[in-house]
Amino acid sequence: MAAELFSLTGKVAIVTGGNGGIGLGMAKGLAGASAKIFVVGRNAEKNAAAAEALKQTGAEAEAFIADVTSEPECQAMAAAALQRFGRIDILINNAGINVRKQPEEYTLEEWRAVMDTNLTSAFSCSQAVYPAMKLEGGKIINIGSMLSIFGTSFAAPYAASKGGIVQLTKSLASAWAKDNIQVNAVLPGWIDTDLTRGARAAIPTLNSRVLMRTPARRWGTPDDLSGIAVFLASCASDFITGTAIPVDGGYSSEI
Ligand code: NDP
Repeated sequence: MAAELFSLTGKVAIVTGGNGGIGLGMAKGLAGASAKIFVVGRNAEKNAAAAEALKQTGAEAEAFIADVTSEPECQAMAAAALQRFGRIDILINNAGINVRKQPEEYTLEEWRAVMDTNLTSAFSCSQAVYPAMKLEGGKIINIGSMLSIFGTSFAAPYAASKGGIVQLTKSLASAWAKDNIQVNAVLPGWIDTDLTRGARAAIPTLNSRVLMRTPARRWGTPDDLSGIAVFLASCASDFITGTAIPVDGGYSSEI
C-alpha cells in the first residue's frame, strides 16, 4: 500500500538544474521511485554526468541543454521531453543562482539575472509543460528558500525571487487545480551544495553561524530533499496544493 502510494512507475519528471546539488538529490529520489528523469541545465558535462549517475541506479534518464531564462528554450525543453518520453507528469523548477551584495550595489542586469533564473524561469517552464500536463494531471514542485520567508541585507533579488516563488505557487495551484495539477513549493534551509560552498568560502563565519542557527545542528544534504520530492510528485499528495513546505532542520521554526 505505502509502496503504491509513493510509486512513480511510468511517470516522467523534468528537473531544471538537475545536474547537481539539490536538483540531482531530488532527481535521485524520483528515480528511486521509478520515474524517468529529464535532466536540464546549461553545462553539457554536468548534464551528461548526472544522467549517467541516474542510469547507474537503473533509471531511464536523458540530459537536455537549456538556459531556462530563455522562454523559447523552456518550450524546446518541454517539446524534447515529450519527444523522448511521450509524456510529462512532474516538473521541478529548481534552477537557481544568487548574487550576494548590499542592495545599493546591484546593477539592474544582476537583479534581472537572478529574477529571470529563479522566478521567471519557473513561470516559463510551467507554461511550457501545461498543455501536456493538463491531459492527465501532474505535479509541479517549485524550489523556494528560507528567503521565501525571511529578509536579508545581502541578497535582495534572491529574496524577492524566492518570495515570488511562493506566490507563483499559490496562483498556479489555484488556476490548475481544475486540471488535476498540484503545485507546491519546497523551502530548503542551508544545504551543502556548490551554491553554498561558494558562500562558505567567501564568509569564514558562515559555517559556525549555520550550525548554531539550525536546530538540527548540521547542514542539509541534497539527499535530504529526495523524500519531499517523491511525496510531492506522487499520488500520496494528490489533495495537497499551493503549499510551501520547509525542509530546513528546524531553521524556520526557531527565532
Ligand atoms: P547549485 O549551484 O548546486 O545548482 C544550481 C543548478 O541550477 C545547477 O544545476 C545549474 O546548472 C542550474 N542553473 C543555473 N542557472 C541556470 C539556467 N539559467 N538555466 C538552466 N539551469 C540553470 O545550487 P543548489 O543545488 O544549492 O540550488 C538549487 C536550488 O535550490 C536553487 O533554486 C537555490 O536557490 C535553491 N536553494 C538552495 C539552498 C542551499 O542551501 N543550497 C537553500 C535554499 C534554496 P548549470 O550550471 O549547468 O546551468
